[in-house]
Amino acid sequence: MARVYNFSAGPAVLPEEVLAQAASEMLDYQGCGMSVMEMSHRSAAFKSIIEGAEQDLRDLMGIPDNYRVLFLQGGASTQFAAIPMNLMQNKAADYIVSGSWSKKAFKEAKMYGDARCVASSEDENFSYVPDVRALELSDDADYVYICQNETIYGTVYHELPDTNGKPLVADVSSCFLSEPIDVERYGLIYGGVQKNVGPAGVTIVIVRDDLVTEDVLPGTPTMLRFKTMADNDSLYNTPPCYGIYICGLVFKWLKAQGGLEGMQKRNREKAQLLYDYLDASKLFSGTARVEDRSIMNVPFVTGSDELDAKFVAEAKKAGIENIKGHRSVGGMRASIYNAMPREGVKALVEFMEKFEAENA
Ligand code: PMP
Repeated sequence: MARVYNFSAGPAVLPEEVLAQAASEMLDYQGCGMSVMEMSHRSAAFKSIIEGAEQDLRDLMGIPDNYRVLFLQGGASTQFAAIPMNLMQNKAADYIVSGSWSKKAFKEAKMYGDARCVASSEDENFSYVPDVRALELSDDADYVYICQNETIYGTVYHELPDTNGKPLVADVSSCFLSEPIDVERYGLIYGGVQKNVGPAGVTIVIVRDDLVTEDVLPGTPTMLRFKTMADNDSLYNTPPCYGIYICGLVFKWLKAQGGLEGMQKRNREKAQLLYDYLDASKLFSGTARVEDRSIMNVPFVTGSDELDAKFVAEAKKAGIENIKGHRSVGGMRASIYNAMPREGVKALVEFMEKFEAENA
């Protein structure tokens, strides 16, 4: 078996223990005589999988009882529309645009009401998080929207905006379960799971009870109504069963790693290793503003497109995969999610040192 170090931004590396367990249960899930892929979503076995997954997620994140956990489909991008459809009772919302994903969400929301951009960092190619300490929020805004970790630009909010009592809505796709968060600071937290939690195909929405209402925008499809899914415990229709099962295994793995405190410690150490090297390097430099750096996605460049391409090609030969940066930043990007072991980051840094010595 030759596993590589996979630095993909998503779908991304999963814990090896989880993959091994899924493999061992592939043909016969716990004596059912069938795979989770083959069982009815109404079966007792699947009911126990989805209920267990929800409980483990609640334990990990400390989700209070007045929040609903929804396992949905359609990716984070479907929520760009579902969120305004469900929450824009006043037809107004304030968006902070700190990268491509919040920009896309903002654009989508404008189809449903008066979405306003109250802060942006587009002037410097989204290399920083806008100052959110003195936002001028709209009185009539139904919610304030952020993308907490911008996957492409490698920035993260270290401080949440003060929304003056308005529900804060956060896309946490690329920082889901990477460290503890205070769920009560948010009205709605959501993300596609394919970066830090599981396989593509599952979107998790954690939403406060009072935001789950029948008072949605006219024309909101039944499938996109939070209430439909909440009233049916995410089983209104056939959910992405196998994906939910894998997420459940990852939640158990996270618990065994010391929960989100344990992950935070590990993730900080891994990021530090890489940033320390980048800051000292004469060849490579990080592209995000130091104060706003993400511990999940680390974009960096050499300053030469040719050398960047050479780095990516040689890295691949050394078992370092998917290190090419997104076209909007160029260069390289190392996504170092929960399941990336410390040894993977160490191997990357050692490879960078070698490359720097050879190409200085
Ligand atoms: N938000 C963020 C922060 C992302 O990184 C991504 C995917 N890269 C998306 C949203 C879109 O996710 P999906 O492909 O699940 O629609």
